[in-house]
Amino acid sequence: RAKAAGRGRAELFDEALRAQLVERSELQAAIAAGLAGGEMRLVYQPVHDVRSGAVIGYEALIRWDRPGHGTVPPDLFIGAAEASRLICDLDRWVLAEATSQLAAWRDAPGPARPGEPTVAVNISGRHLVDSRVVADVAAALAASGLPAELLVLEVTETVLVDDPTAYEHLATLRATGVGIAIDDFGTGYTSIGQLRSMPVDTLKIDRSFIASDEPSHRTLVGMMIHAAHAFGLTVVAEGVEEPCQLEALRADSCDQVQGYLMSRPVPPEEAAGAADDGVQRARPQHPAPTR
Ligand code: C2E
Ligand code: MG
Ligand code: MG
Ligand code: MG
Repeated sequence: RAKAAGRGRAELFDEALRAQLVERSELQAAIAAGLAGGEMRLVYQPVHDVRSGAVIGYEALIRWDRPGHGTVPPDLFIGAAEASRLICDLDRWVLAEATSQLAAWRDAPGPARPGEPTVAVNISGRHLVDSRVVADVAAALAASGLPAELLVLEVTETVLVDDPTAYEHLATLRATGVGIAIDDFGTGYTSIGQLRSMPVDTLKIDRSFIASDEPSHRTLVGMMIHAAHAFGLTVVAEGVEEPCQLEALRADSCDQVQGYLMSRPVPPEEAAGAADDGVQRARPQHPAPTR
């Protein structure tokens, strides 16, 4: 009897697993069709310099206008795409779209000028270990005419630590002039010390640390900023929603901020306006006297 019950459970488990796999492959098929059918679009969230409030760049974030489902956020479909090579197609599309958008926004073509805004694209770990990633980035830059210095690739820390191939690809990309940012820092197992030897320019502190009211988290953020600076890295705080968070980050010498306080991610036609409004909100309440 026990055996029969065990078999029954196993069958139930098989059934649930099969249903999940079917659901996933249906979702993957829908993503592939959506990508081919022009259902994907990018929204842009400005990133601000803490001291001046100026926009130093934009992060491109994908949205899927899926017929019958409304706008699907990336957390609901990137995972399914990452389970197959589909993610590389998706990343390639994002790279092409984001680089040509920034190229179109630029006042004049040609080499990057100091202080000119950048565009950041999220690269999936699966794509980063793919042998084509370096060529994919180069192709997007060539097609758009965007200087490499104006593109930033955001990668999560876990990928870098466990994979020598990912590391090697990033080093090659960085040598071409592209900026590299570690996204969601603090959620994985990387220590800041490990970052010293990594091909990285920027550290993005995960939103969970910024949103936290715990005094220990506040201390931790201060320590992360301090250590990152010691290694010559630029620090961005993600998910800044409250003026007090911005003030705390300013006191801790954080370089850049991104979050709903300044601007939500917006469609490209609104991005310039959002950037201007956000400058006001990112400005210090009592500006220090300038010399
Ligand atoms: P991420 O790269 O860490 O992006 C930041 C996420 O935080 C975005 O969510 C953004 O809308 C959200 N956010 C920004 N400011 C605030 C804030 O003040 N408060 C709160 N609560 N949230 C804020 P989104 O757009 O839903 O993206 C989620 C994740 O999906 C991204 O995290 C990234 O890992 C992934 N993703 C987004 N676009 C792409 C893409 O084009 N390609 C790939 N491979 N992954 C993407
Ligand atoms: Mg990101
Ligand atoms: Mg992030
Ligand atoms: Mg994230």
